Amino acid sequence: MLEPGDHGKQENPQAPKPIGEIIAFLRRPAFHPEKTFYEHEVLGEIKPDDIRNLLLLPFEVALTEKNNRVILSTGTQDDIGDDPDLLSRMRHSRLYLHTHPPLGEKRRGANAPSFSDAIVATYSGTTTPQIVAHEEGMMLYQGPSFDPITKQPFDSSLQDTRDLVFKFGEANGLDIFEYGLDPKLVNPMTLPFQEVAPITRRFTEEAKMIRKEASWGDEEGIAELMKFVNLKT
Ligand SMILES: [Zn+2]
Repeated sequence: MLEPGDHGKQENPQAPKPIGEIIAFLRRPAFHPEKTFYEHEVLGEIKPDDIRNLLLLPFEVALTEKNNRVILSTGTQDDIGDDPDLLSRMRHSRLYLHTHPPLGEKRRGANAPSFSDAIVATYSGTTTPQIVAHEEGMMLYQGPSFDPITKQPFDSSLQDTRDLVFKFGEANGLDIFEYGLDPKLVNPMTLPFQEVAPITRRFTEEAKMIRKEASWGDEEGIAELMKFVNLKT
């Protein structure tokens, strides 16, 4: 019989773990995010430093909610992956946070949702807070609510967000979806990341996607956002 406190050999690998333990596991060089999709239920409170530690991992990570618990899921360098259960929680659970790790210098300045994050946000329920965590801080965002080109309110239930993104890219000389149809437009994947990041940021601002944001030094602002992360809203 298992005595209280005697967790030694009987430990259930599926049991929820403090996020620090999960991060330590993911930091092992033996963990290959491109080969393994890893998920684990988080035990206990998540602190701002935990989020900052997640940003040190060389791949994106998502936090979503299932049965009123936070689930940590691993993505790749480029995105959060396409696990169907994760995609469903990104759209319908009580939380969808994902990280934009700086990956050394490679993705420095990824301080806003990407164009595809903007599209994902459009399909998310209003009860799912969308948060992106990055090197500078955290942002709570929603899908576009304003059309920066026509300067009119934007309603994603009536209008196509992909179209909005495409037109914004076009106005900035970018072929966002890499269609390759217009020789005047540049495929953003061929540009240095640091050139594209400010355009992405500007879209977030001009399409009125930002609900709340805080830099890491803003303790009060970060504490507000951590309430969403810890399902205290
Ligand atoms: Zn993203």
